[in-house]
Amino acid sequence: MNYSIEKVATLVGACRYGNVETNISFLLTDSRSLCFPEETLFFALKSERNDGYHYIPELYSRGVRNFVVEAIPENWDMLYPQSNFLEVSKTIEALQRLATCHRAEFHVPVIGITGSNGKTVVKEWLYQLLSPNKVVTRSPRSYNSQIGVPLSVWLLNEQTEVGVFEAGISERGEMKALREIIQPTIGVFTSLGEAHQENFASLEEKCMEKLCLFRDTNAIVYPLDEELVVRCIKTLNYKNTILGWSKKDSNATLFVKEIKKAELTTTITYVWQQGKEASYTIPFIDDASVENSITSAIICLHLGVEVKTLAERMPQLEPVAMRLEVKEGQHGCTLINDSYNSDFNSLDIALDFMNRRPDHKGRKRTLILSDIFQSGEDEKTLYQRVAFLAEKRGVEKFIGIGEGLIRQRKAFNKFGKKYFFATVGSFISSEAFRELRDEVILLKGARQFGFDQLTELLVNKVHETVLEVNLNAVVANLNWYRSLMKPETKLVCMIKADAYGAGSVEIAKTLQDHRVDYLAVAVADEGVTLRKNGITSNIMIMNPEMSSFKTLFDFDLEPEVYSFRILDALVKAAEKEGITGFPVHIKLDTGMHRLGFDPISDIDELINRLKHQNAIIPRSVFSHFVGSDSDGFDDFSAQQFALFDAGSKKLQAAFSHKILRHIDNSAGIEHFPSRQLDMCRLGLGLYGINPRTNERINTISTLKTTILQLRNVPSGDTVGYSRKGTIQHDSVIAAIPIGYADGLNRHLGNRHGYCLVGGQKAAYVGNICMDVAMIDVTGIDCKEGDSVEIFGEHLPVTVLSDILDTIPYEILTNISNRVKRIYFQD
Ligand SMILES: *Cc1c(COP(=O)(O)O)cnc(C)c1O
Repeated sequence: MNYSIEKVATLVGACRYGNVETNISFLLTDSRSLCFPEETLFFALKSERNDGYHYIPELYSRGVRNFVVEAIPENWDMLYPQSNFLEVSKTIEALQRLATCHRAEFHVPVIGITGSNGKTVVKEWLYQLLSPNKVVTRSPRSYNSQIGVPLSVWLLNEQTEVGVFEAGISERGEMKALREIIQPTIGVFTSLGEAHQENFASLEEKCMEKLCLFRDTNAIVYPLDEELVVRCIKTLNYKNTILGWSKKDSNATLFVKEIKKAELTTTITYVWQQGKEASYTIPFIDDASVENSITSAIICLHLGVEVKTLAERMPQLEPVAMRLEVKEGQHGCTLINDSYNSDFNSLDIALDFMNRRPDHKGRKRTLILSDIFQSGEDEKTLYQRVAFLAEKRGVEKFIGIGEGLIRQRKAFNKFGKKYFFATVGSFISSEAFRELRDEVILLKGARQFGFDQLTELLVNKVHETVLEVNLNAVVANLNWYRSLMKPETKLVCMIKADAYGAGSVEIAKTLQDHRVDYLAVAVADEGVTLRKNGITSNIMIMNPEMSSFKTLFDFDLEPEVYSFRILDALVKAAEKEGITGFPVHIKLDTGMHRLGFDPISDIDELINRLKHQNAIIPRSVFSHFVGSDSDGFDDFSAQQFALFDAGSKKLQAAFSHKILRHIDNSAGIEHFPSRQLDMCRLGLGLYGINPRTNERINTISTLKTTILQLRNVPSGDTVGYSRKGTIQHDSVIAAIPIGYADGLNRHLGNRHGYCLVGGQKAAYVGNICMDVAMIDVTGIDCKEGDSVEIFGEHLPVTVLSDILDTIPYEILTNISNRVKRIYFQD
């Protein structure tokens, strides 16, 4: 579907500048995701930190001609000929209004889903349950915000028979805007969850806010057994159809009579509208899945799906993978695994993710895709669109799996390398499979094609111990610190020590994508690794070695200069290479007494030497706080700052170019906002630990392993080397494949520390070995192969560092290289 630019201008009430006739099909809010410039309308959104306005020149040069702005750029007709500018008072509201108008064009059932948990699962399951005979348009992944919802609703098209959209809120007043955009005919409340039970009052308020979604609906679905929800709904005085479900109340629209769990499945017996008893089985056993299936069942039955059909479709439900995972593969490949439902919109998001992650030259981008079902489009058009999109998003090699793709192979003629197979099995036994080498591979396949098997063969065999790194959490932490800084303050992200153990390359890719100003590593080799992996950001080297100067020049790595010795050697090396104006960062010692020039006694000589050469120039000057994490050192910090302020001002005064001044680290950003100067350096906070409180921000890494073996050990026996672990009562002991060689500190042994099995504490028994440790799982319901959390989401790394009388930095950076890092993004 598309709209003429004139129509858009009218709908959003904009003042139009420019008179080029165009049609708009795509709405863009993030310049990095541009794909189809000619048909794109860019909304220059404004946030506290960022202003979309700044990206107009770049987008124009990439072919975008249509912009929604809050102020027309000066000389727009000279700078941006052949373009249209729509001037509105608020760009976000214009985006929402356009989506609202678009939504109003459709007279099909539209389901709006709110609740604390399960929104995305219910949305995806509704799609799975309804789509065999209805064309369902839904939010891609979890696009449920003030920006995500309008972009989702924009996807409604002539084929749509049912719309399913998620509405997520984080503040009061937000739901009203989302309701106006979604205009749901059926409102769904999944569940309120048990979180924040202690904040009862605010929980109620949150519930009421969510219920705003229901105002103009014809029917609502919610759990009758959740008292608070029921109480809040009563106050709405809702007059239309109420579709409640309950395990207790046989008068409920859907009465759940029995929930029977088997080893891998659950059978739910229910009574619909007090009629005949029926049942269905789902391939899950956890409570959340059971509840989500019931919510989905009600909506299906309400929309006229037969009881019998429901019983046939429920066992086919697929788990909803929320994550896009990045893993190291065999033969120099990197795998991006997205087993989220295969459809056009989620394919677009995954391709965008791949395309935005830089890679060193030569590695091909490959897409392995299965047939896409139930798109509502005819096969030919669908795969033409897929081919076009893949090409636009930088895919060079295409591997299609499924009969549909084989039929439509012509659509992929443009790809230099393309292969088609009926099944994953035939691909695996082919030459094309054996030829995969030095490629970045996106795997995107419907589950019934068995892509799991494919991924398993392609990834490096990992030791069962892995460090999972959540890239969304990295971004959330970054944004949290940015919100504490002035918009114009620049930011250095410290990714030394392999990004505090999280893995510098992938972290750098994410940070570069979020436009941080500088990345900083310890030594030149770390910088080279980044460059070889396609990182083009500015990179600072904190501890340059004398032997590495040539490397610095070759790879554009900007060294810290902390002494006259290194200054002179660097100048000499640069002069020898004929280099001028190479940027360096001057460190002043204001009290750490580690490295740095003395801000009083060295500064004149420093200026003098810098002035008498032109090989290098100071790009920034900085110092480091000794104790910004503790109020107890506030006086000392003030003294450090005064020294730095004076010394750095003197340096600046001697040069006409701007020299960036910086001193705040993570703790400083929070504690000394007035000392941000031109730039801050963010370290530990980025990795999810607040250095001031040792509290968690967003956990980014989880160290996980699995139970190798379980055994009963009778009282009186011992466990492990040197007979240290005496067993006092008959116990169940589990062996786990992680030892001190992986970075599991030996001092956690002999019951000093613990890990989590099924959410319960399991103490380390006896001495921790090199590759294996033993834990006490007596009384914990577990089996071999079960997952064990060493630290992470449920067991903060600071618990371990407290037990070990050290700091979280040490625990994080000690995780050995042989522990594979797995990166994911929701
Ligand atoms: C490591 C480091 C930082 C970051 O410190 P955090 O406490 O992790 O925020 C900042 N500046 C310098 C010079 C560093 O070496």
